[in-house]
Amino acid sequence: MDGQALANEVKSAVQNEISQLGLAGKINFTAVIVGELGTSLQYLEKKQQACEEVGIVMRVIKLDKDVTQDKLETTLKKLSDDRNVHAILLQLPVPVGLNTRKAIKCIEPTKDVDGLTYTNFGRLVQGHASLIQCAAQAVMHILRAHNIPIEGADAVVIGRSYTVGRAVAALLQLENASVAVCHRSTRDIASYTQRADIIVVAAGHQGALTASMVKYGAAVIDVGINRLKKSGRIIGDVDFDEVSKKTGLITPVPGGVGPITTAFLLRNILTAHKLHTNKIARR
Ligand code: NAD
Repeated sequence: MDGQALANEVKSAVQNEISQLGLAGKINFTAVIVGELGTSLQYLEKKQQACEEVGIVMRVIKLDKDVTQDKLETTLKKLSDDRNVHAILLQLPVPVGLNTRKAIKCIEPTKDVDGLTYTNFGRLVQGHASLIQCAAQAVMHILRAHNIPIEGADAVVIGRSYTVGRAVAALLQLENASVAVCHRSTRDIASYTQRADIIVVAAGHQGALTASMVKYGAAVIDVGINRLKKSGRIIGDVDFDEVSKKTGLITPVPGGVGPITTAFLLRNILTAHKLHTNKIARR
């Protein structure tokens, strides 16, 4: 499974559309980052490079790690009100002490390219979303691109965060899979995964899925990203070498879900611009 190849297809489609609409250099995307937690800044740099490649202008606002909740919210509200800003992202996580939910509430839903506002998440669950969380879109894209049957499938999502797990579960349900969502408090995760046709792992925990937990022929999508302390190497949540001996489809880390997630961010930014233009036209 080549995530980069799939990502390039999505990216090219976005780039072509931007160019056909004459929008190169005219779409303004602003990311807000608070402090420099872990690899957040590196992720932003990757996003910036991808934006440049397709003609999106990306600006980064760096706030001090000790910023107040008030200042963070004011920054996001100002961007929401700015007619020249079409898309906004708050890089997560933010430092402990800041309230992520309250901050996200300050983002105008039509500019919310992470799909995390109440409006966008509510629309997602009801099947009417325009801006859907990017990693969740990447998961669905991989399944479709590999012709994995979703309707009627038994699916398990490991991880139930608002940022990934719940969004993936909602999308699978909308496509008529029967979905179980497992998490830290699930007593026996293997009893769910052993019968699953599709397993999506988004736990952020190395070894969250091992070979004995998987049935032969299952499709396994690994969203997790873990950095090994000694070597700095990036690995996923799935014990890839052993699990891949049993699976029909498995995504590697790195080079699986990650690049496709970035490609869908570009798609969402273009969508946000379209929503913005429509809104102005309606006024
Ligand atoms: P999170 O910490 O907010 O949520 C993790 C979830 O997994 C929680 O619901 C928790 O209960 C569950 N969990 C943790 N350990 C578990 C275990 N051992 N067994 C079962 N459940 C467990 O994390 P998140 O923001 O949802 O991200 C999850 C992972 O996905 C992280 O590694 C993150 O870096 C990665 N991620 C990757 C992409 C990408 O593009 N590839 C995008 C977003 C997030």
